[in-house]
Amino acid sequence: MQRFFPFLLLLLIACGGQPAVDATNIEKEKFMPTIVEEKFGQTPEGLATLYTLLNEKGNTVKITNFGGIITSIVVDGIEVVIGFDDLKSYLEPNPYYGALIGRYGNRIANASFNIDGESYSLAANNGDNNLHGGIKGFDKHLWQAKTAVNDQSVSLTLSRLSPDGEEGFPGNLTVSCRYEWTNDNELKLTYQATTDKPTIVNLTNHTYFNLAGEGTILNHKLTIKADRFTPVNENMVPTGEEALVVGTPFDFREAKSVGQDIKKDNAQLAIPNGYDHNFVLNSYDGNLREFATVTAGGRTMRCFTTEPGVQLWTSNFKPGLFPGRDGSPLPVHGALCLETQHFPDAPNQPNFKTPLLRQGETYRTETVYRFE
Ligand code: BGC
Repeated sequence: MQRFFPFLLLLLIACGGQPAVDATNIEKEKFMPTIVEEKFGQTPEGLATLYTLLNEKGNTVKITNFGGIITSIVVDGIEVVIGFDDLKSYLEPNPYYGALIGRYGNRIANASFNIDGESYSLAANNGDNNLHGGIKGFDKHLWQAKTAVNDQSVSLTLSRLSPDGEEGFPGNLTVSCRYEWTNDNELKLTYQATTDKPTIVNLTNHTYFNLAGEGTILNHKLTIKADRFTPVNENMVPTGEEALVVGTPFDFREAKSVGQDIKKDNAQLAIPNGYDHNFVLNSYDGNLREFATVTAGGRTMRCFTTEPGVQLWTSNFKPGLFPGRDGSPLPVHGALCLETQHFPDAPNQPNFKTPLLRQGETYRTETVYRFE
């Protein structure tokens, strides 16, 4: 009936009759929320599955249990993330497209840290540093999967045991990430972990967003609720200070295009050729609050988190270094990531709060990306 309504409406008007229903009140077609599972391919740890989460609005999120990677988010017919349609491409070098990052997001300087006077050596995979968990981080493992569907949302929960000593991190870590896709187009990521020895945990997701579905993100309008950011040294390790954003290219407190100041003569922007910095989010108390808004291509993504920081990464790679979805080279600034987190290198920085986890405690954080 809904599909024929416009024609009936026209017929009625053409015949001089009054339409009985206000056309603006017609509801859009509703879909049955479902999860479709399909084989994605063979990984060194077994067969990976691709899960398509469909909500009532007909919008989809695709996730694979290889690396917890979000391979696709389609909202109103537009693909808004960078990713691949095949597993093989994810087995080739790529810059963590869509991946679940752990055990520690971002850098740990000199791949080492101490807990209770005991020092630990980690795998170094970024010069001397440990980046995003090391050589074989959480993004390169196969996770166990469980799906659930209810009236409001569909969800996928991925879990695994990260063994004591994996990439050098202490403690057997039982870890999970729940991806919930609601009928309101909210992608809710809930991370949880427990350990049997003191350890550090900093989980995040590395999705590359481009809300326009093409080109660069330089015209994306961005707001970040942060009065401060954490400057870095030439090795991209925080210096330990928290600098005010006011009067700098790092001021996103009022919406501005990402490209507005990205080429400004600024020592911090010069190090990574753009933005690749941790912002100190205002009003941190461990509860969920809105921290950023991105608008482009007629759509808006509102972001919420329980975390104290976010890494704004504007994909500063040279063009062609990595492929995009259809194999064509990803342009410089072809996407942006908003990686919610505790601060980089916190375990070695006396000024930063370390996400330390001990036996008997539960690590739990939540981040939500809402498409409007
Ligand atoms: C880091 C960048 C790094 C990129 C890798 C980001 O989270 O902050 O420094 O190059 O991930 O894709």
